[in-house]
Amino acid sequence: MHLFQYHGNELFAEDISVKMLAEKYGTPLYIYSYNTLLRHFMAYDDAFKKYPHIICFSLKSNPNTAIIRIFAKHGGGADIVSGGELYIALKAGIPPAKIVYAGVGKTEDEIRFALKSNILMFNVESEDELREIDRVSGTMKTKARVALRINPDIDPETHPYITTGLKMHKFGIPIEDALEHYNLASGLKNIKVIGIHKHIGSQITKVSPFVDALKRILLFIDKLRDHGAKIAYLDVGGGLGIHYKDEEPPLPKDLAKNLIPLLKDRGLKLIVEPGRSIVGNAGILVTKALYLKKGDVKEFIIVDAGMNDLVRPSFYDAYHHILPVIRKKRNTVYCDVVGPICESSDFLAKGRELKKVMQGEYLAVMSAGAYGFSMSSNYNSRPRVAEVLVKGKEHFLIRERETYSDLVRNEKIPAFLK
Ligand code: PLP
Repeated sequence: MHLFQYHGNELFAEDISVKMLAEKYGTPLYIYSYNTLLRHFMAYDDAFKKYPHIICFSLKSNPNTAIIRIFAKHGGGADIVSGGELYIALKAGIPPAKIVYAGVGKTEDEIRFALKSNILMFNVESEDELREIDRVSGTMKTKARVALRINPDIDPETHPYITTGLKMHKFGIPIEDALEHYNLASGLKNIKVIGIHKHIGSQITKVSPFVDALKRILLFIDKLRDHGAKIAYLDVGGGLGIHYKDEEPPLPKDLAKNLIPLLKDRGLKLIVEPGRSIVGNAGILVTKALYLKKGDVKEFIIVDAGMNDLVRPSFYDAYHHILPVIRKKRNTVYCDVVGPICESSDFLAKGRELKKVMQGEYLAVMSAGAYGFSMSSNYNSRPRVAEVLVKGKEHFLIRERETYSDLVRNEKIPAFLK
């Protein structure tokens, strides 16, 4: 559910006309609905309320501080994968005691920053990383809290690029080596193992992979406890899918209904790391039709948003609904919606039946709130776009559009070229 709906023939973000926002802030433009974001976050918090938990929003899906602040104000934590994300989480007001840090390539500086910030725990992905965290925390005369990220070898049946929990992937510690890693970690002076983590992939549209992975992980936790381990936290990762085209993914309450009964009596604190399912359908990308071009086999609608603004269609062949901002009675055309970037892979939609669009009209690329702005770039020297948050009848600019001078701000000209 989201709050981007037509009022008559005009698309609204909550109570505000999308056309008005496009005219005021320019395009391409990301627009987010505050009440959708909050509703999606609270759907998780309510679903798991019967079990001690922290909902750690996954910053990689959308790292805008204003958006993260919404979750921070409602008791949310953060799942981070870099020093930059840690900086943003803290700036957004997430308490360090609710921050968990995954990622296979944490650098010494990042580890130091996280230790200094006193985050809840590192989700450790390899033996080398364990030893490095031990070394760095030793130099800081502290003890690092860690969870072992276990790779349970479960197929989440999603796109291969967003599958993370199979043996072939770089993520986590293979489940068969996990006990050995635990024994190593518990012998390291500056490490305290307090949790177990897993994350098997993203855009998962069934409950069963979550259940299967959890069962495997719980068996391992029981084994660890038999060894006398004090495991307090179980981090089940994120990954719940959303509706892009015709998927009907389970809801947070379906996940909770299936997971909580497996956990009971174990006295664990549960961590959930949703990203896409909170922000995905809470954001749209608005773009303007620049030119129309008739090809031999199809038409091209050339718009002002490119793969640098929303890379998912080019990168994953992902589908996003494209809706006219103002609905008109028109014939349908078979077309590609393409951007201005000099790559054939620069498209927002391929081989679509869309109502004819005229030059200057606006289109809304739906379900663009997750892995949209966060994966955007300056490719083709295009300034990154503005972001706006709508709350009822109010709208707020939450990120300025970059300027041309931003494109060269960090560059330096060597003296001999001056
Ligand atoms: N946790 C970890 C460790 C991840 O790698 C990811 C995404 O890849 C997430 C959480 C969030 O996943 P999603 O946005 O599918 O909920």
